Amino acid sequence: MKSMKRIILTLLAIGAATASFCQQTDVNLPFTPQLEQLYQAADQRLTGQATNTRPVIGISTCEDSGKTRVNTVYIKAVERAGGIPLLLPCTRRPELIADLLQQVDALILTGGEDLHPLLYGEEPLQQLEEVDSSRDVYDLLLLHVALKRGIPILGICRGEQLCNVGMGGTLYQDLPSQQPQSLMHRQSIPASVGAHTITIEPDSYLYRLLGQRTAVVNSFHHQAIKEVAPGLKVSARAADGVVEAVEGFPTYNLLAVQFHPEHLVVGEQAAFFLPLFTNLIQRAKTFRR
Ligand code: MN
Repeated sequence: MKSMKRIILTLLAIGAATASFCQQTDVNLPFTPQLEQLYQAADQRLTGQATNTRPVIGISTCEDSGKTRVNTVYIKAVERAGGIPLLLPCTRRPELIADLLQQVDALILTGGEDLHPLLYGEEPLQQLEEVDSSRDVYDLLLLHVALKRGIPILGICRGEQLCNVGMGGTLYQDLPSQQPQSLMHRQSIPASVGAHTITIEPDSYLYRLLGQRTAVVNSFHHQAIKEVAPGLKVSARAADGVVEAVEGFPTYNLLAVQFHPEHLVVGEQAAFFLPLFTNLIQRAKTFRR
């Protein structure tokens, strides 16, 4: 509450500065009237004149040099799909994780570093990259509690690999060295541009969502699923056979993809992958009921 007050005071200060700046330069930036409109819109929510039916979508974060961070595109994708994004702080306290997840209707497990290979019974290869064991514990606790409570899950990139490892599967620690014939899965072009195709299983949940057997996805991984966990099945593969999506329906309320759909649903782009997020919102609403 204190920080909210500080933010508002800062905004007002900026508004005042803008106003005096405007007088000096005769540029009309209507900052303060805009702020009034924003206050009114917020007040309408508080007084119940506009009802909130949006489910709360928890988004996993990570710690980096004493700061908590997450890529903003996850937040924007949830907003665009009609959910309330809620960032879940990086903690290893199991009771706090359990309490945090009482506040959400669905969970997005986000991308990031390599998982520690000891988690799936392998010693680290030389090609293993950065690992963060405390994040591994945080993410695995989130997954454990979400699975136990039946909270709908969308796993993305590391999040997909995490679901697989947490449920008993294994990973390739490094595709280029372990599967030398594999395609380029680490694109150098922007994330908003697709890099390779995937083929979607016709009897999969993913196919019902996207309605196509093939799609072009972006690709930012050097690891991938090796042995698929019991309880999950492959719903899409790249042309080289690399697993690009898994799902757990109906036993587990879980869909997970190796690519980054959050980069493909914001801005001016076509919304082909938006159903991954709108479906999560739908599953969240069903879960809440
Ligand atoms: Mn890929």
